[in-house]
Amino acid sequence: MKNRNNYDVVVVGASTAGSYFARRMAERGFSVLLLEKDERDRLSPSYDIFHMGKEEMKQFGLPEVKEGDGIYEFEFSESAICSVYGNHPKPSELAVVGMHKHDYCVLMNDWAVEAGAEIIYEASFKKLTYGENGKINGVVYEHDGKEKTVSCRLVADCSGIPAVVRRSLPDGYGIEKFELTPKDIFYVTLRYIDFEEKRESRYLRSDFWLFYKSWLAPSGGSDALIGIGACGGFEQAEKVYKVFEKYVRLPAHKVVRVEKGRTPYHRAPYSFVSDGFIAMGDAACLTKPNCGEGCTASLVLEDIAVDVASAAMNDGGYPTRELLWSINKRYNNTQGKEFASLMALLGSIIRHSAKANEFLFKNDVIFSKKLLGNMGNGIELSLGDYAKTLIYIIIGLVTGNIKPAELKAVIDAIVTSGKLTAHYEKYPETPEGYEAWAREAELLWAKTGKVAEWDSVDNF
Ligand SMILES: Cc1cc2nc3c(=O)[nH]c(=O)nc-3n(C[C@H](O)[C@H](O)[C@H](O)COP(=O)(O)OP(=O)(O)OC[C@H]3O[C@@H](n4cnc5c(N)ncnc54)[C@H](O)[C@@H]3O)c2cc1C
Repeated sequence: MKNRNNYDVVVVGASTAGSYFARRMAERGFSVLLLEKDERDRLSPSYDIFHMGKEEMKQFGLPEVKEGDGIYEFEFSESAICSVYGNHPKPSELAVVGMHKHDYCVLMNDWAVEAGAEIIYEASFKKLTYGENGKINGVVYEHDGKEKTVSCRLVADCSGIPAVVRRSLPDGYGIEKFELTPKDIFYVTLRYIDFEEKRESRYLRSDFWLFYKSWLAPSGGSDALIGIGACGGFEQAEKVYKVFEKYVRLPAHKVVRVEKGRTPYHRAPYSFVSDGFIAMGDAACLTKPNCGEGCTASLVLEDIAVDVASAAMNDGGYPTRELLWSINKRYNNTQGKEFASLMALLGSIIRHSAKANEFLFKNDVIFSKKLLGNMGNGIELSLGDYAKTLIYIIIGLVTGNIKPAELKAVIDAIVTSGKLTAHYEKYPETPEGYEAWAREAELLWAKTGKVAEWDSVDNF
């Protein structure tokens, strides 16, 4: 470790979000220190296998992996979303790479160091320091049982769900300090399984059962894995799993290993930046609303942040809230508005019974091949699609497959989701309009349902 106490940027948390930002800022010529509370050998311990889209890895220029390097595990492109009883699959094709999470995080650490960033493991963030003007000017961390202070111009919070830096900011610093409650977290249990009947080729496809938020996917070290997730807690996920096992027939298998992990399911903060500060990754709830994945979702914000922060800090400048503000504007006008509208839609659209689920899947409306097969690709519906949806909703109501309350939930969801999109498009150009914009956003979010407030298994 080099002996310096002054950096341009300090990044707290050296998992995927922190490593990426450290690498990109170091590439721009800034001195960067990454602080990571865990040992290098214990980095990212909660679960083993994770996925990234192959195209996304290319888009963000992430380190490549290949067969035999101990990080790469598999690649597949066939997947489908199925109805409550495992019928009417809606297929999609997207090339996905499966890797070992710990090993990929270590690779990303080394990738950041290669560009000039420094990293200290077993270094735990304690608090921020502030200059006489009240603005952040450094970080205190604990390492080897001692507290150390480094000065810097920008602190990036990449500490994951605990958001240790964001939550330590003084009131009135311009950033929300909310802590995620169990209702705002997606609790995931992964069962690594071996099939009882040996297969000739490796299991390389993924199926998702929306009603239970459960999936069967390829794995490493076993034939496949079954994932189940629920907002509220692991117990809730187990309750749903019992019903899932009853209604969906999976190939006979035995469970060989179980892992548990948590990922945020909450809207992102209304502002990511303040004087000398930015929040990213899970610390800023940047996960995909349809699946809870966050590794590449955060990089959209990070690419914008690298551009804006570099311009603000060139020639020794201090990255004030005003100078960083366009990160908020650019992000919320793009992925921010898409995630907000999708999260609002999903929060209410899940409020339906097993009967309605099967009916809609069967007739290819709402849970249609076009929508589910292209999730997140900004798909546009035609007049014919709307007409078909309307006809089948009327048939569903007449035949008792859809209840009026379920229809109302869908309509409310579509209306609120549309309003959120329009509101995020009007994100203020400067901090002046922020308070009024955030108040209006709060009213819209209050109209959306939380996934944790709907218990699908009570609705058979
Ligand atoms: C079971 C499961 C499966 C998932 N699968 C996928 C997937 O396939 N694809 C995908 O994209 N996403 C997946 N996700 C989501 C993904 O894991 C997260 O979105 C992603 O890891 C977030 O990265 P991050 O860097 O923001 O935070 P984290 O990975 O949580 O890293 C935060 C880092 O900060 C460090 N830290 C915390 N506090 C301090 C402190 N006080 N001082 C210093 N360091 C600190 C932590 O030790 C940690 O290393 C999955 C999540 C779960 C639970």
